[in-house]
Amino acid sequence: MLGTRSPQRGLFDADTVYGEYVAAGEGTSFYTFLAQHRHEIFRDEDFAELYCRDNGRRSVPPSLLALALVLQTYTRVSDEEAHDRACFDLRWKVALGVGEWDKPFAKSTLQEFRAQLVLHQRQAAIFQESLKWVRTRARQGALGKDKQVRLALDTTAILGRGAVKDTYNLLGDSIALVVEALAAQAGEEVAAWAEREGLSRYVNGDSLKGQLDIDWSDKHQRERALQAIVADADRLLELVRQAREQLEAGSLEDKRLARMAGLLARVLVQDIERRPSGAVLKQGVSKDRVLSMTDPEMRHGRKSPAWRFDGFKAQVAVDVDTQLVTAVAVLPGNAPDAEQALDVVDQTEQELDCTVTEVLADAAYGAGATRQAFADAGRSLVAKVGVISNQGSFPKTDFQIDLDAGSCRCPAGEMTFDLRGAGLNRRFQFAAEVCGACRLRSQCVRGQGGRTISVHPQERLLQAARAFQATPVFREYRARRQTVEHRLARLVQLGIRQARYRGSAKVLFQVYLAAAVANLTLAATGHGVFWPVLVLFWALVAGLWGRSSRSATHRRSAAPAVPGLDLRFFAHDRRLSLAGSRPGF
Ligand code: SF4
Repeated sequence: MLGTRSPQRGLFDADTVYGEYVAAGEGTSFYTFLAQHRHEIFRDEDFAELYCRDNGRRSVPPSLLALALVLQTYTRVSDEEAHDRACFDLRWKVALGVGEWDKPFAKSTLQEFRAQLVLHQRQAAIFQESLKWVRTRARQGALGKDKQVRLALDTTAILGRGAVKDTYNLLGDSIALVVEALAAQAGEEVAAWAEREGLSRYVNGDSLKGQLDIDWSDKHQRERALQAIVADADRLLELVRQAREQLEAGSLEDKRLARMAGLLARVLVQDIERRPSGAVLKQGVSKDRVLSMTDPEMRHGRKSPAWRFDGFKAQVAVDVDTQLVTAVAVLPGNAPDAEQALDVVDQTEQELDCTVTEVLADAAYGAGATRQAFADAGRSLVAKVGVISNQGSFPKTDFQIDLDAGSCRCPAGEMTFDLRGAGLNRRFQFAAEVCGACRLRSQCVRGQGGRTISVHPQERLLQAARAFQATPVFREYRARRQTVEHRLARLVQLGIRQARYRGSAKVLFQVYLAAAVANLTLAATGHGVFWPVLVLFWALVAGLWGRSSRSATHRRSAAPAVPGLDLRFFAHDRRLSLAGSRPGF
C-alpha cells in the first residue's frame, strides 16, 4: 500500500538540524538543492500505480526512493553503498529529509522499487517528474520560456553488461540454458538430468573450451570438437520439440522452452555453417548476431571505423537553448544512429507540451531515407550530407543535376538529358562519343563508354541540404548542435558508458536516471541566474537586521542568518553558474 510522507519539515529532520552545515560544505550544492525542492519534484501520488490501493503494509514513500535513486546516480554508487549513505551520510540525509537516526530504507526496498518501475514500464517516471519540474521553472524564466524548441540529437555507445563469448562458449552457454529448461520441465535436478543425457560438461560451471582437451592449434581437432557440440545442440533441439508436444501451447513452460531453444537455434544459424563434411565455423559476422547469453539483446556496434563496441546505443535529444535532455531511447548497438530519431522528437513534444521547430544532427542522420522520414512527418531536419568520393575520379557532387529540367551538366560543361531506369535505379547517361573526346576523361571515366550519374531516390532533399550546408548560416547550426555533445559527455560522466544492468529495458532506466540527474544539476546551476539580485536584497535585509542585533555576542558563521535563506547557498551556486554547461557539475 502506498506510503506517503508529510510535506511538513520535521523539527529533528537532518535538513532542519544540519541543512546549514551541509550547505556550507564544498561540493554540496546539489544536496542542498534537493533538500529545498524535493517536495516539488517528486510526489508520492505520482508513483501510486505501483502500489495496491487498499491493502498491505504502508510502503516506504516512493518519493523518497526516487530521490535515493537520483542520489545514487549522482554519486555513482552501488545499491549497498546507497543504503549505507542514506543511513550514515549527512549530505544524503539532508537531501532525503530524513531524521539523523533514521535508516530510511533497506537495500532490497530500493532494488524492489527499481524493479517495479521497470516491470510496469515506468522507466521514464523519475525523468518525467524531474523534467516537468525543471520546465515549470524554465517557464518562470530561469531556463528560457519558449514553447518552441530546437532539438539536437546524437547517440553514444553503451557497453553491455553481459559476458561476450566466442562461438564455442556461446554454444555451450545456450545449451546449458536449454538443459536447465528441460530439467525444470521434467522436474529433475539439472545436474542429474544432464548426466543422464551425457551433457554434464555444459552445466558444471566451468568454461566449455577449458574442458575440451584438444590441441587448439590443430584445425581438425577444433572442427571435431565443434561438430560434437553442434551434434549435442541438434539432439537437444529435438528433445525440446518432443517436450513441447506434451505441453499446452502458450503455457509458461512452453514459452520458456521455446525461448531457450530459439536462442540456441539462433546461435547455430548465425555462427555455424553446415557442410556435407560436417559443421564448421561461419566466416564473417552475421547480421544482428547474438553475442552473449547473459544479455541476448546486446549487439556488435561501431561509432567509427576504429571504435567498435558490444552493447547498446543511447539516443539523446537535447533542447539547444536550455541544454535540457528532453528525451532518450536505447537502441541495439548495431542500429543506425537515426533509428527512433522521430520517436524522441515526438516524445519531446509530449513531455514538454511544446512544438519542435527544428532538429539538428550530425552526418549520421543525414541519409536520404532519414530526411524523407522527417519530411513526411512535416519536420525540419538540419544534418550534414556525407562527403561522396569516387576513388580519385570526379564524384557525383561535381555534376549539376537539374531534376526539373531532367538534365545533368558535367565538369567539362557537357549536358545530357538521357535519364534512364526507374524508381531506385535512375541514372543520367553521357554519350560514349562525348566522353571519348573529352580532355577530362582520365579524371572522370574509368571503364569504357560514357559516364553515368545515379539519381538518389531522395535526390531533391539531398541537393537542398548540400546547398544549405554551403552557406554561412549552416555554421551557426553546427555550433548549436555541439550542445548535445556536451550533454552526452555529462551523461557519460554519470555512468551511461557502462551498462549497470542487463537487457535494454533496464539500460533504458539507467539512461533515464542519468538524464534526470543531468537536468536537475543543470537546474541547480540555474539558481545562479538570479543570485546577484537576491544576494543584494538579502544583504540589505541582513544589514538592517544585523544593526538591530549588534549586541549579539557572536555569529555562528560568516553568512548572514536570515530566516529562510542561506546566502552561501546562492553564493555557491554563483560559482556553479559560472561553470556554465561544464560537464563537471
Ligand atoms: S568524361 Fe564525359 S562526363 Fe566526364 S567530364 Fe568528360 S564529357 Fe563530362
